[in-house]
Amino acid sequence: VLDARLADCAALQTLLTNGGRIAASAPRANACPDGAPPAAGRTLVAGGRVVMPAFVDAHVHLDKALLLGVAEAQGPLAPRLEAAIERVAALRDLVGPEQIEHNAERALARLVRHGVTAARVHVEIDLAVGTRLLELQLALAERWQDRIELELVAFPQRGLEPSGMPELMAEAMARGASVVGGCPYVDGDPLRHLDRVFALAERHAAPVDLHLDFSDDAGRSLLDRVIERTLAHGMQGRVNIGHVTTLAAMFPSAQASALDALARADISLVVLPATDLYLAGHGEPGTRSLAPIERAIAAGVRVAIANNNIQNPFAPFGNANMLAAAWLAGIVRRAAGERARWLHAMTLGPARILGLPRHGVHVGEAAHLVVLDTVDPGTVVLEAPAVLATLRAGRLVYRTESPALR
Ligand SMILES: [Zn+2]
Repeated sequence: VLDARLADCAALQTLLTNGGRIAASAPRANACPDGAPPAAGRTLVAGGRVVMPAFVDAHVHLDKALLLGVAEAQGPLAPRLEAAIERVAALRDLVGPEQIEHNAERALARLVRHGVTAARVHVEIDLAVGTRLLELQLALAERWQDRIELELVAFPQRGLEPSGMPELMAEAMARGASVVGGCPYVDGDPLRHLDRVFALAERHAAPVDLHLDFSDDAGRSLLDRVIERTLAHGMQGRVNIGHVTTLAAMFPSAQASALDALARADISLVVLPATDLYLAGHGEPGTRSLAPIERAIAAGVRVAIANNNIQNPFAPFGNANMLAAAWLAGIVRRAAGERARWLHAMTLGPARILGLPRHGVHVGEAAHLVVLDTVDPGTVVLEAPAVLATLRAGRLVYRTESPALR
C-alpha cells in the first residue's frame, strides 16, 4: 500500500505485507530494501488517504438479515423487542433456506465492503429449525474464510425452556459452534437460563456471549447475576454481554459501580446502536437507550460497537456499516472528544473480545486493513467516510470502483 496516511505518522507511509503480516512501514523511498518498487499489479495507491486496522464486528445476525420487506408484508411493525422476536419467528415458515442463505451472503458482502474482516455471528438455534441454520452458516464461514473470518455463536433466541432446547444447544456446540450464546430475558426463569448457559460453556470450554439487560428498567438488571456466575466458573475474560441498555437507565452512582464490577470480572460489553436505540428507550423522556461506551472504557471494560441486525424488525435502519453505527453512537453519547476510543471499539477492542491476534498497520501485525475516503484520521468517526478498499491478510478483498483509488 503506497502513500498511506497513518494516525501516528506525519509522513505518508508505504506498507509492505508478506505472509499476511505487515513486513515494513516506511516513507516511499525507503520502503523497499533494494530500492525496487513492488511488483506491478500488487500495489494499492492510497493517495494520502487514511489507512487503519480493519473493523471487527463483534455481534451480527446473518440468518435474519434483510428480512424487512417480507416482515412488513405481514402488517405494520411495532418498535418493541417482543414484537420483533415474534415477527421474525413467524417468518421462519415463510422464508426458505435458499432465501436465508442468499440474504446472509448479501450481508457478508456488505460487511466486507464496509471494511469488516472478522465477525462474531449469532446463529439461531431453535426447535423449529434444529441446527439447520448452523449447518448453513458453517458452510458460509468456510466459503468466505479468505475474505472474512466468522466465529459462530449458538444463540437460543426463543429461550431454553421449551423441552429439547438444552439438548439442541449441546448438539450445536458439538457440531461446530464455538461460543455459547444466551438470551435470559426471553425465559420465564432467567436465572435458570444463565445457569444452563454457563454449564454448557464449561462442558465445552467455550466462551459465553449473552444478549442481556435489553430493557429500560434498571431494576430488571441481571448484571450482578452474570458477574457472580462468571467468577464462580472462573470465566473472567471469556464472557461478553450485548445490549445492556439498563446501564443507560441507571442512576450515575449505580452505573459507575456496575461498570467497575464488569471491569473487575473482565466481562466485555458490545453496544448495538441501530437496535438499542430503535427498540428500547421507551421510558422517561430523555432516556437514550445506549450503554455509556466512553464511561465503560474509562472504567476499564473492553467495549465494542457492533452492527447486530441489518434491515429487519430488530433494526430497520442500517447497512452493515460499522462506521455508521459508530457515528450514530457518537451523536447519542455526545462523544466528539472520544473519537480515539470509538475507533478502538470498532477495531482492536472487538478483536480482543474474539480472541484474535493483533492486527493493524505496524510491523508484525496481521495485515487486515481498510483504506478510507478521507485524508484526516481525526475525522473518521465524525464523517463515516466510504471504505475504498479492504485488505485481509495483505490481500485485497474489496476495492471500490470509484476513481478515487488507483
Ligand atoms: Zn443480537
